[in-house]
Amino acid sequence: MGFVKLSSAADCCGCSACADICPVGCIKMVPDDEHFLYPQVDEKCCINCGKCKNVCPVINSDKLKLSVSDDKAYAFVSDDVELIKGSSSGGAFSVIMDSFSDTEDEYVIFGSAFDGTEVVHKSVNSREKADIFRKSKYVQSDARGTYKKVKADLEEGKKVLFSGTPCMVAALKGFLGKEYDKLLTVDIVCHGVPCQYVFSKYLVELGEKYSSKVNCVSFRIKKDYETENPNPRTVDLVFDGGKKINLDIAGCEYLYGFHHGMFFRPSCYKCKFATPERPGDITLGDYWGIEKIKDNLNSKKGVSLVRFNTDKGKLYSEGLNEAGEVYETSYAFACDENYQLRKPAKPHRNRDSFFALLNKNGSVIESVNICKKPDTIFRKVLRKIKKIITN
Ligand SMILES: Cc1cc2nc3c(=O)[nH]c(=O)nc-3n(C[C@H](O)[C@H](O)[C@H](O)COP(=O)(O)OP(=O)(O)OC[C@H]3O[C@@H](n4cnc5c(N)ncnc54)[C@H](O)[C@@H]3O)c2cc1C
Repeated sequence: MGFVKLSSAADCCGCSACADICPVGCIKMVPDDEHFLYPQVDEKCCINCGKCKNVCPVINSDKLKLSVSDDKAYAFVSDDVELIKGSSSGGAFSVIMDSFSDTEDEYVIFGSAFDGTEVVHKSVNSREKADIFRKSKYVQSDARGTYKKVKADLEEGKKVLFSGTPCMVAALKGFLGKEYDKLLTVDIVCHGVPCQYVFSKYLVELGEKYSSKVNCVSFRIKKDYETENPNPRTVDLVFDGGKKINLDIAGCEYLYGFHHGMFFRPSCYKCKFATPERPGDITLGDYWGIEKIKDNLNSKKGVSLVRFNTDKGKLYSEGLNEAGEVYETSYAFACDENYQLRKPAKPHRNRDSFFALLNKNGSVIESVNICKKPDTIFRKVLRKIKKIITN
């Protein structure tokens, strides 16, 4: 047994397309020391067909990204305030699902959903059931088996909407290996993904603190929505028995670690899809900075950034126009304001120490609190010297 050497372990995005495509089922996704899933191949049954390499979105990233000549992007805000509150940004994804499902054809929608407190890719065959995909889940979505299911649905002639991080959308395109008219792909702008282990461990620790098990989580609660200055960086946690708490970034070690890049997958810091060129028919994100050019829009309340990368994607502009306010901007401006459309996230200075501590003391809360302590001047100088020497 050995880990699949697709490029280097630090590059593997953990999409699991290689495991899905293996014709003899000899690739399994197994956790490493940091608890991220990596493909492991049973060399005894490997037939060296090379399909795992052909499907890898990291190796083939350049081929899988679309180049679009126009410089247009759109800010979108739904007319329905409840929809905005129940979405991470301005609700564009829900409106796209509405238009997609307005059809006589049989259809399937794929996206990331909670299964209890585990984050997994799921599929549903009706719009009513698809609200499980709404809102960001700040954990890597387990996509094992998903690409096979998409292919099977497309081969049966169904319409398919697939949404996920750009590496997952690129993985799907590589897996399918050809265009399907009935497939619509939506990639979301992505900061980076933590592993399920760290998230689950954090929830267990919170459960101990509050003497009850966390059974439901919702990120991106827009606290104080009615005010001019809502806080989108908060999370709702519901415990067994119904007790509910809301934590903001100052009170939630997990949110702190997430927003400071303390425990992302190593490949996220080198992400080949944190670029203006995207793999999906449509790209969705937060339209940060829109208030600089449009008075009545406040990105903290939730404004979607929408970019159409294909003609198929553009067909969804009409639905957005009917469902809310759409404001055209240049894509260059959107990219300037949105770091993740230009560059991967930077690792927190103590990222590696976080995992070392976690494996030693077993506590996410304790490890984050140690790692977030301000640096001493001595260590700052030491880091600068190290940087000069290694460059
Ligand atoms: C881990 C993560 C990091 C993000 N980082 C950024 C960022 O740095 N900058 C930025 O502009 N936008 C980022 N986003 C995207 C943004 O917050 C919104 O998800 C996006 O704008 C869509 O919002 P919406 O209001 O249109 O719809 P929503 O209803 O919020 O859309 C939810 C969509 O996100 C997908 N999704 C949710 N969680 C996951 C997951 N774990 N893995 C894969 N797909 C998921 C669902 O399948 C669905 O398509 C991030 C999202 C996630 C999940």
